[in-house]
Amino acid sequence: MSEYIAPVKDMQFVIDELVDLESIAKLDGYEDATPDLIAAVLEQAAVFAGEVFAPLNHPGDEQGTHIDSGSVVSPAGYAEAFQQFAENGWQGIGKSVEYGGQGLPYLVHAATSEMWYSANMALALCPLLTSGAIEAIEMHATDEIKQCYLAKMIAGEWTGTMNLTEPQAGTDLAAIRTRAERDGDAYRISGQKIFITWGEHELTSNIVHMVLARLVNAPAGVKGISLFLVPKYIPNEDGSPGVRNDLKAISLEKKMGIHSSPTCVMSYGDNEGAIGYLMGEENKGLACMFTMMNNARLEVGMQGVAICERAYQQAVTFAKQRVQGIARGHSERSTIIHHPDVRRMLMQMRAATEAGRTLAYLAAAETDRASHAQSGEDRQRHQRRIDLLIPVVKGWCTEMSQEVAYLGVQVHGGMGFIEETGAAQYMRDARILTIYEGTTGIQALDLMGRKILRDKGQAISELIDELTDFDRELSRQDGEIAAIAKRFSTALAAMREATSWYLQNAVEDPDLGGAVGVDFMMLMGNVVCGWLLARSAIAAKKHMDAGSSDKFYPNKVKTARYFAEHILPRSEALSIVVQAGSASSMSIDADIF
Ligand SMILES: Cc1cc2nc3c(=O)[nH]c(=O)nc-3n(C[C@H](O)[C@H](O)[C@H](O)COP(=O)(O)OP(=O)(O)OC[C@H]3O[C@@H](n4cnc5c(N)ncnc54)[C@H](O)[C@@H]3O)c2cc1C
Repeated sequence: MSEYIAPVKDMQFVIDELVDLESIAKLDGYEDATPDLIAAVLEQAAVFAGEVFAPLNHPGDEQGTHIDSGSVVSPAGYAEAFQQFAENGWQGIGKSVEYGGQGLPYLVHAATSEMWYSANMALALCPLLTSGAIEAIEMHATDEIKQCYLAKMIAGEWTGTMNLTEPQAGTDLAAIRTRAERDGDAYRISGQKIFITWGEHELTSNIVHMVLARLVNAPAGVKGISLFLVPKYIPNEDGSPGVRNDLKAISLEKKMGIHSSPTCVMSYGDNEGAIGYLMGEENKGLACMFTMMNNARLEVGMQGVAICERAYQQAVTFAKQRVQGIARGHSERSTIIHHPDVRRMLMQMRAATEAGRTLAYLAAAETDRASHAQSGEDRQRHQRRIDLLIPVVKGWCTEMSQEVAYLGVQVHGGMGFIEETGAAQYMRDARILTIYEGTTGIQALDLMGRKILRDKGQAISELIDELTDFDRELSRQDGEIAAIAKRFSTALAAMREATSWYLQNAVEDPDLGGAVGVDFMMLMGNVVCGWLLARSAIAAKKHMDAGSSDKFYPNKVKTARYFAEHILPRSEALSIVVQAGSASSMSIDADIF
């Protein structure tokens, strides 16, 4: 099993050269984010991820979690690792200074998160959910709640969860039945939630649950859902955890992957009702959840990139060690990395990983620009871009992670199927990414409906215009970049054609977005990544032209070229598929299946 070495150089390259950290550091509130500080933060995070989280990943997967008299027992070393994580301030890296966070740009939080997810995705889900809960409190809680909870959570002393899902309410949150009844200043919550990640554990002294529930007499459907903060222990006046609230984990799911993260069935209000505090307004719970959705989806897209990186590193290590056959040009038996098909797989993995990183970091940078823009117009422009990109980051990066983790197993041959190498774990762990935080199908519906149709194609036209300008600039390049330019032009034309065909036909065919949305989303992901990698190649070439002998730069150009020649051409086929429309998918009656 290979160790995890964070790809700090590539991360730093994307941050500096592609998404322009320098301009983010000029935004109000981010003045402290100097390049030196960010470089130091990434270096320290890399050490922590490699030395503390990563060594627990495989043993954690083998040990899993279990429940003992209502308490969840985590794998050996997890509590200590999480405590170290908290003590080092990693939970608060991008969080408000007012409550003890470090106030660094979201982009920096995203890059450090990539490392936690690569090193140990199951453990890192705990800080991910805590981050989401912190955000919910920052945006929707009263000052009193903020004072009581934020500093503890930002310090990593207490963790957070998201409680949405119920047996009959997965994608369809309108079906939520968990009840809330007003009781003085608070509410009494009762009902059952399923699939709650890190819903119970002993890593910290308290857990803060964000629970969607329905008030008695609330309107039916999503307009009757409210959001509540429900602590495991109700804080005392001095802020310490007090009496145990009426909630518990009643069982843990047995899962395909992420074995070391407890996925809990939670029961609220078996006795007097769990005490909960309203977040935002009554019946506006879904809107509160939506305000956090962008970051949560971006984080899961980042998990896709992270698992790609880990699977790639593992595959490279194996391919350099495993001896089989005599590769062309070798006189003795050689390591498999010399076989062209193995090289194809490794390049595919490498190109998809680096592509996903550019896409996810771009979205993270746009998040910073939208939240810290100086004018309303700027804010709206960046928000339009981020809204358009988010379903693609979540959908494309997590779908590609399936392909990359699959190839990781394939590179290992039979040993990939055997658990001891670790390649199988990455494939099992990756599998959840296209499902939680909205399945790929739901991301595609969001893209085609709310992000493309609703504004009559404004946001996507702005993007296509920008890509068209870039295409002109790219066509003036020579050498290896000229080869990239040729493929990019064709892929962009395919995206342009698919977009205008969709806009022309979507209103008449209400099934269209659902039927071809995933294909369109993958097409868009390919083209945006093709753009970002081509820009990476140009940036790398500048270093080469300036006399740099660092191999990183020519390798960047070669990886971008591989992407342009071997992954980007899928765009043309996807455009044809999009334009085939919904007819074939919907042509056979449901009862025939
Ligand atoms: C390991 C794990 C951890 C999780 N962690 C959490 C957590 O911490 N908190 C939490 O609240 N939930 C959590 N979940 C739940 C997760 O978010 C849901 O499983 C997910 O949203 C899908 O819901 P579902 O499983 O009910 O599938 P369903 O909604 O039943 O979907 C089944 C299929 O139908 C499709 N589908 C459903 N509705 C539509 C539609 N309207 N249009 C088109 N296609 C549709 C879906 O895309 C999917 O392919 C977790 C789940 C797992 C497995």
